[in-house]
Amino acid sequence: MNKSIWLENEVTFDKVSSNIQTDLLIIGGGISGSNVLYFLKDSPYKITLINNTNNNTTCNSTAKITYLQQDIYTKISKIYSQEKAYEYYQSQKEAIKLLIHIIKTEKIDCDLEKVSSYIFSNKKKNNLDLEKDFLKNYNIPFQLKKHLPISISCNHAIEVKNTFMFNPYKYIVNLKQKLNRYKNISIYDQSLATSIKKKKNGYVVFCNNKKITCNSIIMACHYPFSIEKDFPFTTYLERSIVSAFPYSYENPFSMINLDQEVLSLRTYQDHLIFLSNSHNINCKENILKEVKKHENKTQHLFQKKGEYTWINHDIMTNDHLPIAGLIQGSHIYILTGYNTWGMTNSTICAKLVSDLVLKKENEYIKLFDPNRSTNIKRLVNDFLYSISSGSRLLCDKFCKNKDFYQENVKIVKENGIAYGIYIDKKNQEHKVYNLCPHMKCNLIFNSFDKTWDCPCHGSRFDIDGNVIKGPASLNIKITKDKN
Ligand SMILES: Cc1cc2nc3c(=O)[nH]c(=O)nc-3n(C[C@H](O)[C@H](O)[C@H](O)COP(=O)(O)OP(=O)(O)OC[C@H]3O[C@@H](n4cnc5c(N)ncnc54)[C@H](O)[C@@H]3O)c2cc1C
Repeated sequence: MNKSIWLENEVTFDKVSSNIQTDLLIIGGGISGSNVLYFLKDSPYKITLINNTNNNTTCNSTAKITYLQQDIYTKISKIYSQEKAYEYYQSQKEAIKLLIHIIKTEKIDCDLEKVSSYIFSNKKKNNLDLEKDFLKNYNIPFQLKKHLPISISCNHAIEVKNTFMFNPYKYIVNLKQKLNRYKNISIYDQSLATSIKKKKNGYVVFCNNKKITCNSIIMACHYPFSIEKDFPFTTYLERSIVSAFPYSYENPFSMINLDQEVLSLRTYQDHLIFLSNSHNINCKENILKEVKKHENKTQHLFQKKGEYTWINHDIMTNDHLPIAGLIQGSHIYILTGYNTWGMTNSTICAKLVSDLVLKKENEYIKLFDPNRSTNIKRLVNDFLYSISSGSRLLCDKFCKNKDFYQENVKIVKENGIAYGIYIDKKNQEHKVYNLCPHMKCNLIFNSFDKTWDCPCHGSRFDIDGNVIKGPASLNIKITKDKN
């Protein structure tokens, strides 16, 4: 897989290699899992965190820490109300405070920078005016701008100060290394939870052919697995292409537009990080074509070629609010659905989940409730997204799109079973099942990363069939997986 600018010197913890008994099990060691662990570090509980891989959503993000998040306040106001959008704004302000507090008090080396954030647009019809009205109504300080601190065209922009950005990999690794010194905490990498069994007083989680027995589980694994929820119907996945290249600039900045064709930029040391080509992963487009479009845009706007180029996707909720809390009728907590704003949302949701575990009050329980009741506008969104996912699934079952498969990739059917074959440079065949174990969607070969990707819910597998991204928790190897 192509790696992001952040993932140069990877540090990993030990693997799970024996049975474990623990009070709390956190599944997932991205920013969500790391932040929950931080908020629970002084609790009386024995806590175990297991993580599959570091090449996760967090370490492939652009890692801006801001409350100016495209037209999020307009979108939430349209589905719910301005008051709810303001509640969300307050949660983001509090999240920034908490995150900066963690970084400062724990002295986490993560290249934190204080910057201005901008949202901008080139279109006459856009939500920038509505965002401006929202900020004005609630006396949130901002400035209107005609120009950006970089030479890309812009009709209008809004600037807010006192926002941040950092290196997300350094943040989670350095935080986890500090937390691993606590007596009640154990952290593991390369440890994939494959299934969960309910027991009388808790759960048994299977991982690396070992058993982890626990009282409660915190699902911090991005797309949750092994729980019955309406996830596929209330969320969708958005994928973007990101690149980083050397760039000289006067002052660091962070910005994103509101236009249909998303452009997001930030500086990092002597590089510019540029994101474009954001799509629902359902969109039937060959990934190489998407990368090419992104490269052409980079060339056109900056006359540069990406020194690093990578792909990442995040979970989008149909009502634009994250999902965090206790799953009804269980001892499983969940935090996810950050709508591409996970640096702040993982922090505020981690605080919320830790408060629930510690039986403390928290003012955002209702706002992010995973069991929240739906309203008619959200239902319409859910319906439209489900149709799009369903049609994608049917299309995969019945149509063959030859464009996806190049000469070194074959999809074959033997005795009614679909297999995917990738032939590597040494002419060696890598054959896997072409069916995602999660919800039985057919997989698409990603020629850019050399992975098998699920177009329905984002699971990814390497050419030998190992899971590298959930929700799938079983591999697609031809030899039967014993887990
Ligand atoms: C292109 C892009 C740019 C973004 N830029 C920004 C930004 O500028 N600012 C911002 O605030 N947000 C941004 N985001 C959003 C942000 O990156 C995510 O919301 C956030 O990183 C999600 O964190 P997480 O910890 O929930 O998930 P992850 O980082 O994916 O962590 C989940 C972890 O769980 C592990 N795992 C999964 N399944 C299992 C299992 N079965 N057993 C064990 N471990 C498992 C995985 O290996 C992984 O390490 C961006 C997102 C994208 C796609």
